[in-house]
This record gives sequence, structure tokens and C-alpha cells, in this order.
Amino acid sequence: MKKVLSVVVSVYNEEQALPMFYETTKPILESLDWDYELVFVNDGSKDRSAEILRDLAQNDQKVKVIYFSRNFGHESAMIAGIDYASGDAIVCMDADLQHPPQCLPAIIEKLEEGCGVISMVRTKNRSAGLIKNITSAGFYALINALSDVKFEPNASDFFAVSRQAGDVLRKNYREKVRFLRGYVQSIGFKQGIIEYEAQDRVAGHSKYSLRKLFAFSMNTIMCFSNLPLKLGMYAGVGAVCFGIAVMIYTLCTRQGAPSGYATIVILNCFMFAVLFVIVGIIGEYMAILFSELKDRPIYIVEKTDNLKNPEEMDS
Ligand code: UDP
Ligand code: MG
Repeated sequence: MKKVLSVVVSVYNEEQALPMFYETTKPILESLDWDYELVFVNDGSKDRSAEILRDLAQNDQKVKVIYFSRNFGHESAMIAGIDYASGDAIVCMDADLQHPPQCLPAIIEKLEEGCGVISMVRTKNRSAGLIKNITSAGFYALINALSDVKFEPNASDFFAVSRQAGDVLRKNYREKVRFLRGYVQSIGFKQGIIEYEAQDRVAGHSKYSLRKLFAFSMNTIMCFSNLPLKLGMYAGVGAVCFGIAVMIYTLCTRQGAPSGYATIVILNCFMFAVLFVIVGIIGEYMAILFSELKDRPIYIVEKTDNLKNPEEMDS
């Protein structure tokens, strides 16, 4: 029997890109040696994406759709797709054709070679602006310095996992604040890398603003590193040394009462700044702890097309 490839596609307001995505990807999937299913996750789109997906699912049994009750974000959509996928391997990709489906045969080849995880690495990112490229490089430099896991700077949300690696993600990585791409790179298995040239978005616009990316980067650093939490210790030691230096200077220069004013102001500002940074960092970790503790669902499914519940799939 042929093996089955599950292609998971997250969709948020992609009414323009969806038909093109389907038209381009379908013939490539048909030409593979593997059988396939196309699992679309409609992440609470406000445009006509849901109707388009419903039509596709009605005319094509290989199209399966998960409709979220609201927008839960790209990462949650990928997790849901992985939960519901029933294939022998899973590929996650975007609906805007920035992840070229022409890479699918190469992915199958790597899977046949026994790779458990295949990271798709961008050789160049044409659509991203200069600011996005610089901030992205800075982010990876920072997280690689802070975390034990080493991240591939140009890896994307375009990746493939075997059934076995998918099961690990499905069962063991249920964190509320998460970085799926990071987990994929840290779970081990035989790792494969395929280079690809990122394309421009076929239609619509990017849903990731710089503000969203910043929040996402902060969370990721905190999910993969406890080092910022220890910053308080280092900052404390630094502040004590600085304090001693200022004290010695003040005593040696024998400043009279009025001339010590500057020293006091500088010391006060500096110490408060250090304190606020530390309190802020602790706050960020508390926020993550709080959201894990509440244990709210990563996503809520309103309905599905051509799909069984993940619980029923094993039976
Ligand atoms: N997406 C999603 N939920 C969101 C935002 C985006 O499912 O809240 C989907 C979107 O439809 C696309 C993919 O995630 O298929 C990547 O989003 P986008 O192309 O906007 O990001 P970029 O490629 O610009 O980083
Ligand atoms: Mg995109």
C-alpha cells in the first residue's frame, strides 16, 4: 500500500491565495509516489476563506478542513493540523505559496531515506524587508547565545516530520507559549535539510507585523532559555561593584555635601533601571507560567470537513 503524506496548511484570510495554492499544489501531489491528504486549518478567517475551503472539500475528498472557532494564531493552526493528520509523514506549509510545493518530491526523497525531521532552509527571502531581515538575524544570534538548543537561522515554518516525530510533537509538546520550529529542531531523529528559495506571496499581505514578531521572539527566548531570569544575579553583582567604585571615588575626591548631588542622582537612576528590568523579566516568566497553569486549550475546533476526530483516528 502507498504511504500517505499529510500536507498541513494554515489559513488566515487567504481568499485570494487559496485557489492558486490548490491549483498549483494538487498536480504536484498527484505526481508523487505517495498518496496524500491536504489538511487545511482555517484559523478564524474573516474573509471568504471558509467558503472556498468548504467548496474544495465538497469536490475533493482528499481536502480536509478544520475550522477554528476564532483566530488562534499560526502556531496553533499547525499544531491542530498535526493533531488531525493521519499520514505517514506530515509537511507544514503556508497557504500563500511562499513555500514552494515544487519542493515536495525532494521532501519525499528525504523521508524515504529515513529522515525523521526535515527542515526547509531559505536561501534568500525576497519579500522580507531589510528591517525584518536584520531583526531576524539579531533574534537568532540572541537565542543561540542564550539557549542550549542551536537554531538554524533560516529555518522556516515549512518543515516535514515523520509519523513518529509527529507523534512526539502531538503528545509531548503541548505548551501554550511555543515555538514549533524550535521544537522540531530539538527533538532529534535523523535530521534532513533542504534548501529552497522563498517566493513572494502570491496574493494578500503578511499577517505578521513587527510588533507580533517582537512578542513572538520574546516568548521564544523565554521558552528556550532561563538565562534572562538569572540576569538579576549578574546585574546585582555588577551594581554592587559599580556602587563600591562610586563610593571609593566619592570618598577619595572628598566631595562636599552639595557636590555629591550628581552621584546620588546617577546612582538612583541606574539602580532603579536595573531593578525595573529584572522585575520586568520576572513578570514575563510569570506570564508564561500563568498561561501554562490556566491550561486553556491551544485551539478550539468548531467543525471539520472530511475528517474524523483525532481520538477516533487511532481506532
Ligand atoms: N496564519 C494563520 N493564522 C494567523 C496568521 C497567519 O494561520 O493568525 C497563516 C497564514 O494564512 C499563512 C501562514 O500562516 O498561511 C503564514 O502567515 P504569513 O504569510 O502572514 O506570514 P509571513 O510569511 O509573512 O511570515
Ligand atoms: Mg507568508
